[in-house]
Amino acid sequence: MSDFVIPSPPVTAIPVASGGLFPVRRVYCIGRNYAAHAIEMGHDPDREAPFFFQKNPNNLDTSGAFPYPPHTSDVHHEAELTVVLKSGGQNIPVESALDHVYGYALSLDMTRRDLQGEMKKAGRPWEIGKAFERSAPIGPIHTVEEVGHLDSGPITLTVNGELRQEGDLNQLIWKTPEMISYLSEYFELAAGDVIMTGTPSGVGPVVKGDVMEIAIAGLGSLSVTVT
Ligand code: MN
Repeated sequence: MSDFVIPSPPVTAIPVASGGLFPVRRVYCIGRNYAAHAIEMGHDPDREAPFFFQKNPNNLDTSGAFPYPPHTSDVHHEAELTVVLKSGGQNIPVESALDHVYGYALSLDMTRRDLQGEMKKAGRPWEIGKAFERSAPIGPIHTVEEVGHLDSGPITLTVNGELRQEGDLNQLIWKTPEMISYLSEYFELAAGDVIMTGTPSGVGPVVKGDVMEIAIAGLGSLSVTVT
């Protein structure tokens, strides 16, 4: 018997490649974390303090389909490595930050670029451009035991077989341990937290029927169809 006065919302869970489900608590996303992408978006690629925004846990979607969202005509793909945590805390030192990582996944930070642009211009929050339904397609989680820690190797995205985004994880401006440490100074991190680590250059629009395929060395590939 529960005391909830309405049906309790389901916990978002991501399949783990080796079995089981990873329950999601929060989703943090870092912006402009590859120099070439910062430049293409019109920003200085110098290493300034990282900045973060959030998506909602239930924006994560493992269906392999991305429904074209409403109120936009410029939805962009952003191929990203996602890191998921098995533990957390506050003021985590860089040196021990990787001890909190449970695993890694392929993901897409889908973005209503036109709406995000309007919000940027007006100095308003980005949620309308970033945190919409099914805006974060994600693949199964690969555990650290299975794939180790990922800090180098190609990250690519093709659309209908044509290469659109290409980078290397070693080009991340803020590395995974640094992102975890920095976030933990401002938020209390915990098991179930998910961090999307930013996208390399080459972001661009998709239309219905497009098939996006993201690949990261060590994680295989993930195919997502725009529906
Ligand atoms: Mn992004």
